[in-house]
Amino acid sequence: MNDDMKAILQKYPKMNDMIALKEIFWTNNHCKTFDEEAGRLSVDSEDIKDASDRLKRFAPYLAKVFPETAKDGGIIESPLRDIPDMKQEMSRYFSSEIKGRVMLKCDNELKISGSIKARGGIYEILKHAEDLAIKNGFLSYDDNYEKLADDKMKKFFSKYAIAVGSTGNLGLSIGIMSAKLGFKVTVHMSADAKQWKKDLLRSKGVEVVEYESDYSKAVEEGRKLSDLDPMSYFVDDENSVNLFMGYAVAALRLEKQLKEKGINVSAETPLFVYLPCGVGGGPGGVAFGLKTVFKENVHFFFAEPTHSPCMTMGCMTSTHDKYSVQDFGIDNITSADGLAVGRASGFVGKTLENLVSGCYTVTDENLFRLLYMMSEQERIYLETSALAGVAGIYRMFTDKEGHEYLKSAKLEGREDSVVHLAWATGGSMVPSEIMKEYCETGKKLI
Ligand SMILES: *Cc1c(COP(=O)(O)O)cnc(C)c1O
Repeated sequence: MNDDMKAILQKYPKMNDMIALKEIFWTNNHCKTFDEEAGRLSVDSEDIKDASDRLKRFAPYLAKVFPETAKDGGIIESPLRDIPDMKQEMSRYFSSEIKGRVMLKCDNELKISGSIKARGGIYEILKHAEDLAIKNGFLSYDDNYEKLADDKMKKFFSKYAIAVGSTGNLGLSIGIMSAKLGFKVTVHMSADAKQWKKDLLRSKGVEVVEYESDYSKAVEEGRKLSDLDPMSYFVDDENSVNLFMGYAVAALRLEKQLKEKGINVSAETPLFVYLPCGVGGGPGGVAFGLKTVFKENVHFFFAEPTHSPCMTMGCMTSTHDKYSVQDFGIDNITSADGLAVGRASGFVGKTLENLVSGCYTVTDENLFRLLYMMSEQERIYLETSALAGVAGIYRMFTDKEGHEYLKSAKLEGREDSVVHLAWATGGSMVPSEIMKEYCETGKKLI
């Protein structure tokens, strides 16, 4: 460990707990208002509007090529649900009364790829396809985009390649979408990637390259190979603004869904959002979008496994992507494959460092316990990563830092007015026999 790292351990005592793989809860004491921050940022609400409009242009195409999206007119969106039984069970099991309304944003039900990656990943590929088709005179913005499903277009796209590095779910969404458009697509999978995700992609004609090392290596190798081919486009999960914007559109949709449920987010009814975080693009994009809509009335927290706390470390120490968790001896080995990332996105960390309310870590054992509880109480089946957000709801009440946060937000005595929303980031694609094993694992731990 160099002197800089030693100084970090001195200055941030929670780092020692993180290295010991203990659950921690960090709250941000340098939060600024959205308006104070907005001027400093490279992205704004216009970018989100642009992304939202693009997804609308593509809706007729998606409805045509993915018939499961036709019912919603080709708009890929997930339901918002109340989870009162889970609220009650978590209060009981963790011996602390949870107050307020408890909800789940069910991205596990997103069509096409069954995870939050169906937002950013699919969006980025659609944008790339649109850029190519327009540049080459095959498309104009006011065309009906259904024409992109024509054989002529598929043949055109087949001259181009797409590559991405992934722990699994990003590969699924990029792979499925790219193959559908006609692109040649290669997914570089880290060691964490589940076998069934690789098998599924191969069955769709996607080339899957496997690595024995973690996500960062898969990204690095994927980028290197893609850069050798001038016709290849590399989806850069660590820095992509397009991915980020695809995720951010969720905020505009959520605002509508909340209203439909009679919730008007305000100073009187604040919204707390808990987002499972890997490299940061998904949760960061969603959080950024929410800030543009709800400003100071939304409070968001990033959730990570105790073995992969890269965003927690980066935000807490303001070092962002300078160090990986492995640099501090944390192994980045977790069954939450979607969150198995050792180095956070510098772009996301720096964009949100003064807006994020806090970060917390969760053990794999607690992820499995929550997985089982959710299956029993609500009949909702999530992958392990997706439970990291759910943990935030009880941690606000069990952890000292949670109490203190509520107090500093002047919510003491008004806890019942808070809407707690956990982002359930994935699950519906998990094969049922594997889901059964997950539930069994959780049941044994309870
Ligand atoms: C990818 C993923 C996340 C986190 O998204 P990042 O952009 O990597 O931070 C969370 N949950 C699931 C299920 C995922 O697949």
